[in-house]
Amino acid sequence: MTDLAAAGKALDITRIRQDFPILSETVNGKPLVYLDNGASAQKPTAVLDAMDHYFRTSHSNVHRGAHTLGDRATTLFEGARETVRSFLNARSTNEVIWTRGTTEAINVVANGLAETLSEGDEILVSRMEHHANIVPWQMIAERTGAVIRPIEITPAGEIDESSFDGRLASDRARILAITHVSNVLGTVVPLERLLTKARERGLYTVVDGAQAVPHYQPDVQALACDFYVFSGHKLFGPTGIGVLYGRETLMEAMPPLQGGGEMIERVSFEKTTWNTLPYKFEAGTPPVAEAVGLGAAIDYLGQFSRESLETAEQALLQRANELVETVPGLSVIGTATHKVPVMSFKMEGLHPSDIGTLLDQQGIAIRTGHHCAMPLMDYYGVPGTARASFAFYNTLDEVEQLFQALQKIQRLFA
Ligand code: PLP
Repeated sequence: MTDLAAAGKALDITRIRQDFPILSETVNGKPLVYLDNGASAQKPTAVLDAMDHYFRTSHSNVHRGAHTLGDRATTLFEGARETVRSFLNARSTNEVIWTRGTTEAINVVANGLAETLSEGDEILVSRMEHHANIVPWQMIAERTGAVIRPIEITPAGEIDESSFDGRLASDRARILAITHVSNVLGTVVPLERLLTKARERGLYTVVDGAQAVPHYQPDVQALACDFYVFSGHKLFGPTGIGVLYGRETLMEAMPPLQGGGEMIERVSFEKTTWNTLPYKFEAGTPPVAEAVGLGAAIDYLGQFSRESLETAEQALLQRANELVETVPGLSVIGTATHKVPVMSFKMEGLHPSDIGTLLDQQGIAIRTGHHCAMPLMDYYGVPGTARASFAFYNTLDEVEQLFQALQKIQRLFA
């Protein structure tokens, strides 16, 4: 079936939900309504089975040869790396590094690029970054004398492109570290345009894809970014595994962050030399089962066309937008034109954490707080928000339930 034909075919959400056992749980005596997918998505049976099967039949350490189980584990582990390579359209598996998650991946890149920075060089990050894409750069700035330059946003929560152009115009701009999708606002950043401009100015480009990959399949060659990072657990895979895509020539030149284990070629007390890519960046025993689980998650998603997933998700967002006005005093933060199904909101007279607790009593899971994006909270002048983040397995009925619950909370507590 072509992608287009598949997109025309509506997803059978009832059937899909059966693939995710946890969605049948009850919470506080109510059927679970899981709307915290931005924090961590749920796992299909395909992922649980792949990890279970790995442990039951193939577990051993990888790359140590010598016996059959070691070979089986290595084959599955490297097979998962190839699955990720294909998912990202990277040129080679040498460009796919396993990490613990997005945070670790950004730390590896920041440490690797530190050598290229001198005092006064500028690292551009947007105001809507997750702390994971701010703090590692601050640490490197402290080490090198480089400075962080924020790119501002508009009240709707979009990149202010005049601020972006202004930052880029500086002769000292060296690195652009930017999110693909905002975890708080759901804004989809016009990455192609921004990356093209940054490339023209000779900046290294680092994309935080943590919130993008559950909704879009990035093509790193088409994007032509230098680095693209994401976490397995937001992509319906396990925790403890993430991916750092890095352009091979840059990764060859960069020093590793951690030493020991797999990352060496030869060790002596006088000098140690690094292993080839991708192993140079993979110190210690890697998270083998988790890599296998992530590969299974990507394979699972591969049965759906991304268009059909997006259609289903956008229908959820649209319904949520329509229902906003049914809750007096509720206002949405982040009204970008191009959004994934994420809705941050506040309610008059209620603290976000109270909204979270009251919804939980009704079986509805959302996230509340600063979402690891304090500079963004400062911009909107709020201590935190309540955030509902949807996945393709959520239903229109669940959106209705959320808003009915919010109406009730508003009536009783606001
Ligand atoms: N970047 C963004 C945009 C995120 O939403 C998150 C997690 O919420 C992270 C980075 C950090 O991901 P992890 O905790 O999996 O390393």
